[in-house]
Amino acid sequence: MLWLKNAYVVDPIQGVSGVRDVVTRDGRILLLGRNIPADRLADGGEMEVVDCTGKYLFPGFVDAHVHLREPGQENKEDIASGSRAAVRGGVTSLICMANTEPVIDNQALVELVVRRGRQTGLARIYPLAAATKGLRGEELTEMAELQECGAVGFSDDGRGIQNGEIMRLALEYAKITGCPIVSHCEDAALAGQGVMRRGRAAAARGLAGIPATAESVMAARDVLLAGETGGRLHLAHVSTRGTLAALRAGKAAGWDITAEVNPHHLILTDEDVPLTNSSFKVNPPLPSAEDRESLLKALADGTIDMLATDHAPHTWEEKARPFAEAPFGMTALETALPAIWTYLVRPGLLSVERLVEAFARRPAERFALRAGTLRPGAAADMVLFDPDYEETVSAERMASKSANTPFLGRTLRGFPIKTWVEGRLVFER
Ligand SMILES: [Zn+2]
Repeated sequence: MLWLKNAYVVDPIQGVSGVRDVVTRDGRILLLGRNIPADRLADGGEMEVVDCTGKYLFPGFVDAHVHLREPGQENKEDIASGSRAAVRGGVTSLICMANTEPVIDNQALVELVVRRGRQTGLARIYPLAAATKGLRGEELTEMAELQECGAVGFSDDGRGIQNGEIMRLALEYAKITGCPIVSHCEDAALAGQGVMRRGRAAAARGLAGIPATAESVMAARDVLLAGETGGRLHLAHVSTRGTLAALRAGKAAGWDITAEVNPHHLILTDEDVPLTNSSFKVNPPLPSAEDRESLLKALADGTIDMLATDHAPHTWEEKARPFAEAPFGMTALETALPAIWTYLVRPGLLSVERLVEAFARRPAERFALRAGTLRPGAAADMVLFDPDYEETVSAERMASKSANTPFLGRTLRGFPIKTWVEGRLVFER
């Protein structure tokens, strides 16, 4: 048994935001309350007591967008290293993407990811399967069978599904399976060979730009198709005002649509992109200041449902290439929470309650995962968070195999100091 005393507990599902004690037994939350009397716990056997005064206790975070790179790209990351990175960042459940080598588009590979995740025994790993075979955007995968093997949704993330009829069919199936289709909205023709957001900043750097419409045109299409089919749609990494307009319209119509935003799109803009550091190269690209402002508002007011990292590891060699040639993507599992705390929560741009709702409750609800709450009876997946702990982000400390993060060298304030999964301590800072 574990007795966490005087923690500031935030759990939106229970409407809790205040100092509480939490007691766990056999990997589950047993009690949550104020000043739990010791005699209520007399029967429990061995009891470990942790004084949590001045610390937050959060439900383990749920990251709906992670690239674990296994199978096939284990030089960047694998399920074990990605799981260690997750719990180090306070993430106890994660959804991983299908754009591996080979693509996760068949039962054997879905089962492999589920099995490796269980063997690792750290964060809970839930795979998305590809929506189309080989991510080619031509032929749908066997969605019902893949769902039975453990896929919690379907996505061609990494590229947009260019053919509208294929997307419409995927959403038809999503209605039957009940699993969301996660859309990486990117019109390939509009995106062209761009490497950062089209605009003043790209022009000043002499880099080819990706127009905001490359995302929002496809987002609008997918929102309309979700309306037509009644299928369940989730928009990945929303980064433009055009996409927000489509999202708002679809939600106002009562369609089954949710959306996520990545921390880097809330913290950085295209003006921050240095030509000499391709860790800032990400897809969708870092937004304009105006887009960033609108994304923050949309997250705060619930138009954007959730936060997700889009953790996308790449090797040093790949990222050492010139900006225009390096691959898109940045790591984020270990820095997301500290960066959000430092740049958004601490300055008052995002409330701690909304943070927990957006990064634990909502993703768990949307993908039907048993996670995201500290309700008695729930699994004791928990994060003890010290809002004043400072650490400088360094590659040496990373549990991830890759360290292509734009926050490298920055000192962040507010870190997870203990992470439990099912009552087991899986990380301690
Ligand atoms: Zn994507």
